[in-house]
Amino acid sequence: MASNKIIGIDLGTTNSVVAVREGDKVTVIANAQGNRLTPSVVAIGEKGERLVGQVAKRQAITNSKNTVYSIKRFMGRRHNEVAAEEKLVPYEIVGGPDELVKVRVRGKDYTPPEISAMVLQDLKRTAENYLGEEVKKAVVTVPAYFNDAQRQATKDAGVIAGLEVVRIINEPTASALAYGLDKKKNEKIAVFDFGGGTFDISILDVGEGVFDVVATNGDTHLGGDDLDQRVMDFIADTFRADTGIDLRKDQMALQRLKEAAEKAKCELSTVLETDLNLPFITADSSGPKHLTMKITRAKLEELTRDLIGRARGPCLRCLEDARRKRGAAFNVDEVILVGGQIRMPAIEALVKEIFGRDPHKGVNPDEVVAVGAAIQGAVINQEIKDILLLDVTPLSLGVETLGGVVDILIPRNTTIPTHKTKVYTTASDSQPGVEIHVLQGERPMSRDNRTLGRFELTGLPPAPRGMPQIEVSFDIDANGILNVHAKDLGTGKEQSIIIKSSSGLSDDEVHKMQREAESHAEEDKRQRSLIEKRNQADSLVYNVQRTLKEHGSKLSEPDRAKIEAAIKEIQEALKGDDLARIERASETLTQASYTLAQMLYQQKQPGAEAGPAGPQEAPGAAPGPGPQAPGETPGPKGKGEGDVIDADYEVKE
Ligand code: ADP
Ligand code: MG
Repeated sequence: MASNKIIGIDLGTTNSVVAVREGDKVTVIANAQGNRLTPSVVAIGEKGERLVGQVAKRQAITNSKNTVYSIKRFMGRRHNEVAAEEKLVPYEIVGGPDELVKVRVRGKDYTPPEISAMVLQDLKRTAENYLGEEVKKAVVTVPAYFNDAQRQATKDAGVIAGLEVVRIINEPTASALAYGLDKKKNEKIAVFDFGGGTFDISILDVGEGVFDVVATNGDTHLGGDDLDQRVMDFIADTFRADTGIDLRKDQMALQRLKEAAEKAKCELSTVLETDLNLPFITADSSGPKHLTMKITRAKLEELTRDLIGRARGPCLRCLEDARRKRGAAFNVDEVILVGGQIRMPAIEALVKEIFGRDPHKGVNPDEVVAVGAAIQGAVINQEIKDILLLDVTPLSLGVETLGGVVDILIPRNTTIPTHKTKVYTTASDSQPGVEIHVLQGERPMSRDNRTLGRFELTGLPPAPRGMPQIEVSFDIDANGILNVHAKDLGTGKEQSIIIKSSSGLSDDEVHKMQREAESHAEEDKRQRSLIEKRNQADSLVYNVQRTLKEHGSKLSEPDRAKIEAAIKEIQEALKGDDLARIERASETLTQASYTLAQMLYQQKQPGAEAGPAGPQEAPGAAPGPGPQAPGETPGPKGKGEGDVIDADYEVKE
């Protein structure tokens, strides 16, 4: 059955989180590994199988070329826009300079929405396991500073994952919702979000159910990853000075270095000095080399001072915009810190310096965005009433006019949804048509802004320049997605575009990817159940063999032979991938081992004539698939750790 719940998803650069509102509270849902944060990491294995989250992250060291992380940095972006990002990642980025980026993994090209969809699929499953029903709808968050193409790409990722993205909301707005839902008094808040890949700042007016975004700003090229890179470079430079070896040339060493650098960075949020220890990091003719080093918090701060300082500009511009809109006396009452990186003391100090107050510490910086998204889901579902969310568009939108100058129709920080129209005309006599070049950005010349789309309105009747009246209208919906329309008022001729193609994917492509993701979901499910069955069969064999070894001598020869034959069959079955055969063999062995279980049971209760008839009725007596967690690797286990026969019969002392 499909759930009517709308889940909230924080699709982060580094970590993703899923939450749902039930009754009056929001639950942040733990994934299959029991974690509330799922790394936004995807890997493709040798057989084309897809790994997501912690399992993907864990194998990154040995499979770095086929492991994709930070894909959010590439969402909706063209190759020539991501030169800096490309240098940060070990996987291959393909596509011409003006084309949308693709990622090449094991010879196959994936669009960023496809990769993100794999993460979304995983989160969808997490929510479904928790709710016990299919989930169809989600609210997904994006950085406030995401442009139209990036938003559209995020929506596409949802569709590919089989989720209807009922609303895209800005991460800071989501945080404000989570923070301010129960606030009765009016408050002006700033949400300062420093995550792994992006930095966002928003100022909101919150109170009595109204969430009014006053201004927003940020830097989509600034995050914790950049700090890690600085630390890595420092370590690699130091190591090279000592040994002459450049670790950056060795993928495996580089990946270990990256992990160690991030770990050191995080530790330095709470301690003043930390040890780095990477044995056997590389080798030369003189033998293996180990890397040991101390890093102090002061060193980390020195290495990253300029990066952290880059958060200042957007904050000041945001404050300035807010004051322009609300008066020079406008000030914030509370600063909410969001994102993993805000745990760094230097960042907190910067916040304090900019806003002149200690930041609020009452929200969980890792989970608050997803919680807000879940609240928004409940608002859309009308489970929560009387909430008004007034978001703004983060960048100015306009059209190109004569001489390549941008004419702005919708200035940045305009509350959305919004609708603007303006009348333009021709630049030369008898001009047969006009090109509408739609732009996003703050620069005066069109070439310095981002092209969202172009279309032509043709068939204008001959007329002197300046005569035709062409009405251009811009509509931004609640997701921040733009629709542009042009009309010749003289002839009534119209032309419009939804700036949709800007994510680079047509509806057909999105649907094709969706089908592919679905087929993978089937295949992944089959793979998982195969692994589960294998593991169960494996531990069954282990348990029966062990019991047979200890107590087999008490069995009759035919009984013993029967069990041994069953073991042999299951071992044969396990050599292949035939799920049905493994299941059959498991069943046969389970049946055969009843004899063994029965014998042990009777031994244990020699005088119990009136006792339970046989092991079939004793719950859990059969040494079949036991309490072992599915997917767990079977192996020698201690008593009571899933060793069913021993645990139930207590034969051993
Ligand atoms: P995103 O929103 O990009 O998914 P998160 O909010 O999860 O990211 O933040 C991830 C970033 O936070 C990473 O760069 C990580 O190294 C950093 N981080 C996590 N914990 C700490 C910590 N204790 N100190 C400093 N940085 C941290
Ligand atoms: Mg985040």
